[in-house]
Amino acid sequence: MSNYSMNTKCVQAGYTPGNGEPRQIPIVQSTTFKYATSEDMGKLFDLEASGYFYTRLQNPTNDYVAAKIAELEGGTAAMLTSSGQAANFFALFNICECGSHIVASSSIYGGTFNLIAVTMAKMGITVTFVSPDSTEEELHAAFQENTRAMFGETIANPALTVLDIEKFAKVAHAHGVPLIVDNTFPTPVNCRPIEWGADIVTHSTTKYMDGHGAAVGGAIVDSGKFDWMAYPDKYPGLCTPDESYHGVNYAEKFGKEGAFITKCTVQLMRDLGCIQSPQHAFILNLGLESLHVRMPRHVENAQAVAEFLQKHPKVTYVNYSGLPDNKYYALAQKYLPNGGCGVVSFELKGGRAAAEIFMKNLKLAAIETHVADARTCCLNPATSTHRQMTDEQLVEAGIPAGLIRLSCGLEDKADLIADIEQALDAISE
Ligand SMILES: *Cc1c(COP(=O)(O)O)cnc(C)c1O
Repeated sequence: MSNYSMNTKCVQAGYTPGNGEPRQIPIVQSTTFKYATSEDMGKLFDLEASGYFYTRLQNPTNDYVAAKIAELEGGTAAMLTSSGQAANFFALFNICECGSHIVASSSIYGGTFNLIAVTMAKMGITVTFVSPDSTEEELHAAFQENTRAMFGETIANPALTVLDIEKFAKVAHAHGVPLIVDNTFPTPVNCRPIEWGADIVTHSTTKYMDGHGAAVGGAIVDSGKFDWMAYPDKYPGLCTPDESYHGVNYAEKFGKEGAFITKCTVQLMRDLGCIQSPQHAFILNLGLESLHVRMPRHVENAQAVAEFLQKHPKVTYVNYSGLPDNKYYALAQKYLPNGGCGVVSFELKGGRAAAEIFMKNLKLAAIETHVADARTCCLNPATSTHRQMTDEQLVEAGIPAGLIRLSCGLEDKADLIADIEQALDAISE
């Protein structure tokens, strides 16, 4: 399908049924697969033949959907995981081990920040966080002799910073290290990081890819471009025999195009088991079939809401990279020419008290710790996710008490704006 446009790939890539086969991706609801002889099965275990033997490692439903995501991102191989957290952990842990070091943007999802800064630290993997606005020199300075990966988010959740992917990739490659980009917020419809030099792309498919708030999931895509064999001392897990898997050398046997995902599947998924259920993969694919139709509407609604809020006297500032006065407008024009995503954040002049009244009065927008849903939802971090912090601590963290994160859904934008307007009206002057 590689010659078709993004729109066509969203609908049809990954699965091409033969004569008389199901038109829709079949849900292969089976943990295991049958073989006539032990020799047949032995070839699969030796990775001499491809095929299925146990759903923890691979399942046809998951593979159809992963193949679609690989095509959307322009990668050579992909796999699904049980969540976005698992996707980022697997992508990093596939090339890092005790004693390794990661350079990561400080502007990333809170769950990923904890994963890297706290949980992976317990495994002996250290990190240097860098500002996404760092100069090339500052980025170079963060690298160490044991650095094995660089990490960032195309549009960070929730700060909405835009990553200069080309700059990050250039610095990572100068140190012989791959750049891993979490592309959850724009999705491949709005940005394809591989085209800008990213080596590995990850997703929380829980967000726009599913898009209906129905299934938690994740995905990892390999660009097939990083030459592991050029750095065998850095990536022994890929470039030397895996004694836990019959001495296979992944880079030699599967090449640049297949080594990363093969190792991640047969080693990490085998041992850690964060598999996505075939049912969830099926639901995810229903979301993917309309991703190219939904993303432009999320962007259109967010742009209209951001422009409305910017003019409102009860709003201090609006953070949306589609607004010309936004700090990331120029980067967004470069990497996200068709818009970024549906998430907008803004601060109410009246602080915490105004935020409470505003949230209480919304009728269409529901209060949720979720984003990227067909239904508009919103969150006031000060009274929910960050409620243990004082107003002073919140300001220091860049999350003032009056900050609202609004994820614009697919409703009519006039209805959304009317809802926001009446909720703002309820705040007394
Ligand atoms: C939500 C999110 C994650 C974590 O994904 P889950 O599916 O909730 O595990 C990772 N990265 C980003 C950018 C996210 O928004």
